Amino acid sequence: MRFVADLHIHSKYSRACSPALEPGPLYRWSQLKGITVLATGDFTHPAWSALLQEQLVPAEPGLFQLKPELARQQDRDVPASCRAAARFLLEAEISCIYKRDGKVRKVHHLVFAPSFETAARISASLGAIGNIRSDGRPILGLDSRDLLRIVREASPEAYLVPAHAWTPHFAVFGSESGFDSLEECFGDLAGEIFAVETGLSSDPPMNWRLSALDRVALISNSDAHSPEKLGREANLFDCELSYDAIFSAIRGRDPKRFLKTLEFFPEEGKYHVDGHRKCEVRLEPEETIRRKGLCPSCGRPVTIGVLHRVEKLADRKKGKKPAGAADFEHLIPLKEILGQVLRVGAGSVRVDALYHRLLARFGNEFHILRELPAKDLEKEGLPLLALALERMRKGEVELQPGFDGEYGVISLLAKKDFSHQDQLALF
Ligand SMILES: [Zn+2]
Ligand SMILES: [Zn+2]
Repeated sequence: MRFVADLHIHSKYSRACSPALEPGPLYRWSQLKGITVLATGDFTHPAWSALLQEQLVPAEPGLFQLKPELARQQDRDVPASCRAAARFLLEAEISCIYKRDGKVRKVHHLVFAPSFETAARISASLGAIGNIRSDGRPILGLDSRDLLRIVREASPEAYLVPAHAWTPHFAVFGSESGFDSLEECFGDLAGEIFAVETGLSSDPPMNWRLSALDRVALISNSDAHSPEKLGREANLFDCELSYDAIFSAIRGRDPKRFLKTLEFFPEEGKYHVDGHRKCEVRLEPEETIRRKGLCPSCGRPVTIGVLHRVEKLADRKKGKKPAGAADFEHLIPLKEILGQVLRVGAGSVRVDALYHRLLARFGNEFHILRELPAKDLEKEGLPLLALALERMRKGEVELQPGFDGEYGVISLLAKKDFSHQDQLALF
């Protein structure tokens, strides 16, 4: 079966995360978004693990579902057009901070487990090394290679995937505290790494520029810190619904089973190009090089973004797709598009009302973004939305790339498109 999976999120127990990140709301939002398999996040956190075990029951092998009585309560707030199966898969993110070769390394990793027993074994090993009780995404003084060993020893079906591989401060290839290759990071165990998460600021074509990554799969996930952000990046599979089928599709880099990733335009990510947020300075990589890495406003070193870092490590020109690589599709979150159509903030009450009206009328967000014929929206009296969606699907967008922690801006509509103002009065 075809389904969408988002394999990296956080719970309410992670720092700076929404208190709404609980199993019930996650189940409800999975349906609104069109996600069939959602990672739990944070399985190493004792209170979150206890809550998951109290509210979830086993479903297909390695997957879990919300208890039926809890699901019924949530389903009252899910329109019939969006109701669908929703499953959970056990996942956690670990922040490894350690010294290697005289440099401080800070690298985030995703860890996946097929059962609560395996998750508990991993948590017990990590709990002996550092504090896993205070933050859902624990910070441990643990070498990435040793984390990988712990995960692989816990179960042959437990896996590690480097998270948001290119972000400057906390990633395997990050410009500030990462490495130049998987081998440098994981040493003798590098062969155990079969996938990397590309993160919001990079997309598959950028990663294809490194021949060293030809042997790994590229996955994309939301890293959501609130339920509304679920699925802002995700993976599309065509396989059996089970933990093993998902990971064997990824490991096998089989484009018939791991079909594609659903991606941000990488320019929207908050570390795409270089710059200095405090000084409101955004630099393209060539300009950073010309300025010797220094901010033209304050003279301090700028934060080197993902594009620059890819350029530095790349050994191949743009345009080659390695054999077996999954396809990809660029999307923009529906609420951002509605904000542009209504010319208000994406977080406004009007956007929220129209968002839920559209979901009730047409189905989940991924269906609307990816599949709904534009003419159906015209018939609904929303020609500007139809136009915006068509432009997104064709990649006809105007980009202001993100830098140094500031999200980029992707514009779908120009001033001259707004001659249908009267029709918008309806909303
Ligand atoms: Zn992270
Ligand atoms: Zn500056």
